[in-house]
Amino acid sequence: MPRPLSEAPHLSGRLPKDHAEVPISQADAPPVDTFAVQPRGKGRSAKLWKPKHVYFTAGAWEEAHGRRIAERLDALGLNYEVMKANRLPKLGGSTTRETYQKAKNTLAIVNAPPSTMKLTPIPPSADWQFHLAKGCPAHCQYCYLAGSLSGAPVTRAYANLDQILENNANFIDPNKQLTSFEASCYTDPLGIEHLTGSLSRTISWFGTQPDARLRWVTKYDDVSALLDLHHNGQTRCRISLNADWVTRRLEGGTADLEARLQAMRKLGQAGYHVGAVLAPLMPFDNWQDDYTDLLQRLREALDFEVDLTFELITHRFTPGSKQILLDWYPNTALDFDEDKRSKKLNKFGSHKFVYQKEQMKELKGWFTEEVEARFPEAEVLYFT
Ligand code: SF4
Repeated sequence: MPRPLSEAPHLSGRLPKDHAEVPISQADAPPVDTFAVQPRGKGRSAKLWKPKHVYFTAGAWEEAHGRRIAERLDALGLNYEVMKANRLPKLGGSTTRETYQKAKNTLAIVNAPPSTMKLTPIPPSADWQFHLAKGCPAHCQYCYLAGSLSGAPVTRAYANLDQILENNANFIDPNKQLTSFEASCYTDPLGIEHLTGSLSRTISWFGTQPDARLRWVTKYDDVSALLDLHHNGQTRCRISLNADWVTRRLEGGTADLEARLQAMRKLGQAGYHVGAVLAPLMPFDNWQDDYTDLLQRLREALDFEVDLTFELITHRFTPGSKQILLDWYPNTALDFDEDKRSKKLNKFGSHKFVYQKEQMKELKGWFTEEVEARFPEAEVLYFT
């Protein structure tokens, strides 16, 4: 069960390794209500992110897509700095909180390094993962990026997009009917689309690749730029959905549940394959009621024929991600009690904490049954 707010731990004051002692202005602070419980939404769109600090590395500035991003920034009236070399200025603050605030207000336009051109598999989601960016401006208090990306949580968008897409072509397996590519392992690509245009270009590129399929996922809702693209049915747009209880308390800076449902409806009506990523599933008090409400509303939003999949992902954390998240969100309502969890080892010898066997069984049974009852036409891809 979630921990009452009064029992939440306090900011430890520890600094991640790469912190520098650079003061930041109060202007970097996120809006006061970013971490507050949001009112039950009736379609509150996510605020378009306008970073206060934007940097281009020298290499990124040379790229055609880098210049396209600059044009977007100009149109939005956002200032940026072009660095003389391929290094960014020090982005840390003097406390964990300052670093967090500054980083979440910073966009860096860089080139994806050569190592990222060697794609890696991402089961069970897709054959390959590739990246348009690393980092995300939202403030989800369980964010999986906390454990997988090191350093200050700056958003780095890639300027060498043309090279990234051409490289994908090398990974289309001629012996398979279709090769799938996941674009949102390290970012929410829609959350920065108004600044980069990278997702639109990527969807259009996949539209020209009959043997490849694109998958991406978001908690944002401004899909207007995607609706008229020539996607050729070769992209599955997934929306990350959760119970109102979770969305209102733990997903700062994102669109509310209703806005996401409406975004999904628009994408389905635009001929995209769509997906509901129900994540992270949490057994908070009376969870069945809230999740029933979610499934009901999803059914109402998708009251037409559409190709639909479900992915069901329970909440998990690692010791490292727990520490970082508690530093960032010391008053979180998220339950990080290790005594209530099971340890799951991975092949590299580290571990994560997942719900205990009986609880997992209950969640799996309930969600599988409820989804199948309401969405007999949909495919549940996995429960984890
Ligand atoms: S939207 Fe996704 S990537 Fe962004 S903060 Fe939330 S969980 Fe993390």
